[in-house]
Amino acid sequence: MSILRAMYTGVTGINAEGEALGTVGDNISNINTVGFKEQRTIFQDMLGHSITAGSATAMPGSGVMVGKIEQLFTQGSLSTTGVSTDVALNGDGFFVVKGTVDGVGGNFYTRAGTFNIDKNGFLVNTNALKVQGYQASANGTILSAQIGDLKVPTAALPPATTTSMTITANLDSNAVVPVAAWDPQNPATTSNFSTSMQVFDSLGNAHSVNIYFRKTAANTYDYHALVDGGQLTGVEVNGAPEGAERLHGPLLPGMANLHSHAFQRGMAGLTEVRASAHDDFWSWRELMYQFMARLTPEQAHAIAVQLYIEMLMHGYTAVAEFHYVHHPAEMLARHLDAARETGIAVTLLPALYRWSGFGSQPLKEEQRRFASDSKTILDLVAGMRKHVSADVRTGVAPHSLRAVDPQSLKELVAAVDERSPVHIHAAEQTREVEECTLAFGKRPVEWLLDNCPVDGRWCVVHATHLVASEVTGLAASGAVAGLCPSTEANLGDGIFPLLNYRGASGRYGIGGDSHVSRDPAEELRLLEYVQRLVGRRRNLTISSTSPAVGTTLWLEAAAGGAQALGREMGALAEGRRADFVVLDGEHPDVANRRGDAIANAFIFSGSSGLVRDVMVAGRWVVQERHHALEERAAARYARAVQQLLA
Ligand SMILES: [Zn+2]
Repeated sequence: MSILRAMYTGVTGINAEGEALGTVGDNISNINTVGFKEQRTIFQDMLGHSITAGSATAMPGSGVMVGKIEQLFTQGSLSTTGVSTDVALNGDGFFVVKGTVDGVGGNFYTRAGTFNIDKNGFLVNTNALKVQGYQASANGTILSAQIGDLKVPTAALPPATTTSMTITANLDSNAVVPVAAWDPQNPATTSNFSTSMQVFDSLGNAHSVNIYFRKTAANTYDYHALVDGGQLTGVEVNGAPEGAERLHGPLLPGMANLHSHAFQRGMAGLTEVRASAHDDFWSWRELMYQFMARLTPEQAHAIAVQLYIEMLMHGYTAVAEFHYVHHPAEMLARHLDAARETGIAVTLLPALYRWSGFGSQPLKEEQRRFASDSKTILDLVAGMRKHVSADVRTGVAPHSLRAVDPQSLKELVAAVDERSPVHIHAAEQTREVEECTLAFGKRPVEWLLDNCPVDGRWCVVHATHLVASEVTGLAASGAVAGLCPSTEANLGDGIFPLLNYRGASGRYGIGGDSHVSRDPAEELRLLEYVQRLVGRRRNLTISSTSPAVGTTLWLEAAAGGAQALGREMGALAEGRRADFVVLDGEHPDVANRRGDAIANAFIFSGSSGLVRDVMVAGRWVVQERHHALEERAAARYARAVQQLLA
């Protein structure tokens, strides 16, 4: 082989390999792209080629070239996006779409199932090609001979009651027959397996049916189905205890955590090092953006599961997830999944995050995962509608006055269901108050009260920096102040005027926000202590019904939290969800205490681990300080955080 020929062969190899590496690079960089199909490079011989045409340097049969880059149509894993028009194929096949591409009309085939409804009601893909499918007759019969454009009627569809459901299951023949008799009060421990399905009533409301399979003999199972429930049907004082399940200590109503950004749990304890000369909320926010930048849906899911378990184990039974990391789209659905897996009730609040600052400044590079407009948020809420139940609620969260403009804020609030909770961050920072006053001529809470229909479905998160007229105005509106004592202390935000606000009958609840604490008792203790430090007096949060601070704080925050979440909880009363926090009756701080002394011990004795059992909507999710997913979730969480910090 001549030198020239050898060099030529070598160069073609480098060229071809370069292209192949590009394919590998595409595969790696798209590892988290929904719907991306892996590719491979196929090489082939060069049959004939010359370096300079017509000369003697022709190179017949030398070298290698890229024959083609082949897409591999192997099945990927299916993931949920929260958008009801996103569909995927499991197994072989293509979607048929019809329209015109590059001037050529006809049917085309694709496996990408990101569809939308266009303005005429047709189901279309991103190139506006119409999805093809079987047509239906006027009475809903599917006509399998007729294929055409799929059109979704825009008028409201009448609800249809669920009349039948089918389960295909494979039950373990090695399972052990439960010793205890079937007990609907305690279904999990008196059956072997369970699964749940959603059904709809004649008004279109969703209900969940839990089906419990119970082994009765070799190769024989029976099943029991329980619909919804989870509501207290009555409270009786000094009732007869016969036949009842006895609790292992005193009982408090479950607490709502009214403000959560779940992913921030992964940063708890990592930002307590002085990094700049002036370290405050804004420098902390830069670190939070860096942490969030690499967060995958899988990692967000792992963090949320861990967080929700920790919350349950400390006495929170429901959470409002203020969700603004919108991209990729499946992030919201991951939080719904995490709540369902752990058993915590959830109010999902997709957050409108449009601008980086007052005066409609465009989002910064590090904020692009938040990008959203009113339509995005309303679509997310609509996509979640089928999951809504007594324990899964939705609402909206215009992020803050710096991240939304007045027009889109008003549009969003006007478009959302009139019962939906509306949450907004306001007046957390003095700089924010100053910028708002400069931009709008009013302080944030003042502006909201003057320009928005602020009422009982609103939760104004933080509301730290208020003047007297805002204190009375916010209290009179009926809105809930969303106080996050541990986060506000951690970030050096300032001190909420709790005494004046309560004096004006203002409602409040507590939120974990950045989750430096997952313990409601700690939040309430801190809330009271800060007021004591400022006022140099003791026992400040008391009510006309109780002079005990612990009882007052717990009951007021539970009621305010329930209101903010739009969920029937926060009190032991008929019609409320059966959310119970059972304290350990044998713990020295609780044993032999009665009445107010119990909540006072829980909040002010400084002991952690007083919560023994927790029930959400009639189901035990924590028993003897243990959650069923605890170990698995902790291991998965540790892996996720390790990857994020690598
Ligand atoms: Zn927040």
